[in-house]
Amino acid sequence: MLEQIIFILAFISAFGLFFFRLYRIYRYIKTARPLKLKYRFKRIIRLLKIAIAQSKVFKNPLVGILHAFIFWGFIIINIEMLEIVIDGVFGTHRSLAFLGGIYPLLISVFEFFAVAVIFACVIFLFRRNALKLKRFWNKEMTTWPRTDANIILIIEIMLMCSILTVNAADSVLASRGHPHYPDVGAFLVTGLIQPLFTGMSDSSLVFLERFAWWFHIIGVLIFLNYITFSKHLHILFSFFNIYFTKFDPSGKMMNMPSVTNEVKLMLNPSAEVPQPSAEAEAGLFGAKDSQYLYWKNLLDAFSCTECGRCTAACPANITGKKLSPRKIIMDLRDRVEETGSKVLKQGKNFDDGKDLLSLISPDELWACTTCNACIEECPVNIDPVAVILDLRRYLVLEKGLAPGQLNAMFANIENNGAPWQYSAEDRLLWTENLSFKTK
Ligand code: SF4
Ligand code: SF4
Repeated sequence: MLEQIIFILAFISAFGLFFFRLYRIYRYIKTARPLKLKYRFKRIIRLLKIAIAQSKVFKNPLVGILHAFIFWGFIIINIEMLEIVIDGVFGTHRSLAFLGGIYPLLISVFEFFAVAVIFACVIFLFRRNALKLKRFWNKEMTTWPRTDANIILIIEIMLMCSILTVNAADSVLASRGHPHYPDVGAFLVTGLIQPLFTGMSDSSLVFLERFAWWFHIIGVLIFLNYITFSKHLHILFSFFNIYFTKFDPSGKMMNMPSVTNEVKLMLNPSAEVPQPSAEAEAGLFGAKDSQYLYWKNLLDAFSCTECGRCTAACPANITGKKLSPRKIIMDLRDRVEETGSKVLKQGKNFDDGKDLLSLISPDELWACTTCNACIEECPVNIDPVAVILDLRRYLVLEKGLAPGQLNAMFANIENNGAPWQYSAEDRLLWTENLSFKTK
């Protein structure tokens, strides 16, 4: 009975903290500008393709298979959690064994995925730490992001090992006819590793089984809360992020309603233009901080896996510029974490003397060619370009801090109606000496 009480308290506390933290992140994301997105059936199809079938990760088939082992393993093995929870609450043992012949088959599938997850995690640890793959060692991958990735992989290995230990110790006890461990059939993996446990006494096996069982469940509950502070949050948020991705072409800038209205009125002074809501405009051209971006940008930030595929594909980064799209997204998340609760308390105009541009320099922003390679490569459909463009818009329209070449181009557009330094009348002068007629 004491075990059941401890289990229930641990379970409720862990899930309470987990949902509290998720609700907090949800409120942080809501501090940003509103954005209406229409429901479309296409969103579900895309979700199934990118999130469930992992289509973007499979661009590299080997890595795709390993990642899929971890992802599908995570989902499938969690079904076993259902049994652990029932057993923990009611003090039962192998409560789903009533499924009969299907049960050992089911556990064997879980065990297959447990081994596959261990295998994939070991390879990923090796790739990160021994092979030192460049994208995991870029400048923004400071001590914490690298440690975070290692912690996640090591915890996953430990959780998988503990569940295999439970099954192995359990089945040896069952084969000895222990009254609390009924024989429910042989399992795929632990059937093979059973000999490692057969030399142990009953009491040692019971201790080992209980220890591994508690280690697994407490480990899962701690991990559940850990991921909400880590890049592993993508395992949850990437579903929403992919679902809410816009259907516009990548890199398309969102018009600002007030500017659009101005242009419409210039073209037709009697045009009827809707007044943009103050909330939609946020009282600012572009964005200088997280709360002036759109909520989808903030959702992007919390969905980032820090995989660096965007940076590895970025031509600016490859050619030695300061820009790394992953850093842009990581900086945004850090800034939201730093200011979220203050914006909630003090409102949008909260000021701590810093902003997102304290973390991201103009050099980084202006290095972007808006080629969209980062969006194309991102396995969870994050759009760093949208953030870059809004920050640039702020620099230009609010601060007048465009690079010299752009200022010259702006002046030409204003004076000549074109980006070139010629008046409209002189534009075709170069055609005069051609050997053929152009008119
Ligand atoms: S759009 Fe900008 S940030 Fe993205 S890959 Fe191209 S240059 Fe890099
Ligand atoms: S933005 Fe996408 S591609 Fe870039 S690090 Fe994050 S998840 Fe990876």
